[in-house]
Amino acid sequence: MKETSAVCHALLQTPEFYALLRRIDGDLAQLVQDKGCRHCGQVLHHADYPRKPRGCPPAAWPDCDTRLSLCCAECRKRTTPDSVRFLGRRVWLTIIVVLRSSRAQGACLDGLPAIGWATLKRWRQWWTDTFPKTAAGRWLRGLIPPTPEPFIYPDCLLQSVQRDTEDERLAAILRLLLGPA
Ligand SMILES: [Zn+2]
Repeated sequence: MKETSAVCHALLQTPEFYALLRRIDGDLAQLVQDKGCRHCGQVLHHADYPRKPRGCPPAAWPDCDTRLSLCCAECRKRTTPDSVRFLGRRVWLTIIVVLRSSRAQGACLDGLPAIGWATLKRWRQWWTDTFPKTAAGRWLRGLIPPTPEPFIYPDCLLQSVQRDTEDERLAAILRLLLGPA
């Protein structure tokens, strides 16, 4: 477990990891943009929001300071694509919410910022009560192989998703949280 923790710690300090997440968000936004406005079918233009998320190392700020969003050229209605970096309006990056919410022993906590007890409690409650009822939560429930341990997000994902490298693995988990592609 110590080894995993070290890998994780190093990864979360690596700007390339955030650049990878930014590229995934760019692809997600492109898919939405290609479809055009869901209200009137006209062209969507970028109208991104500035964000100052917590949990991002200074070297990665350029890849974390914008929430991609689109605005219709005709009806001006906004469409904000899904993101692997930002979880709704939460101030912490999703990767921090995921790793910090884990109850697993030795799960990569060394390199993570400290989170207040009340916030952590709120996050865990969200994983237990709210997320399983979302479309993505229901979809994932059918996808993850059953285990003897209780089925708790995000631990079930952290335990079951495997990839060749840790950055790909964490990026895959963040992508899965958004539901089917
Ligand atoms: Zn429109």
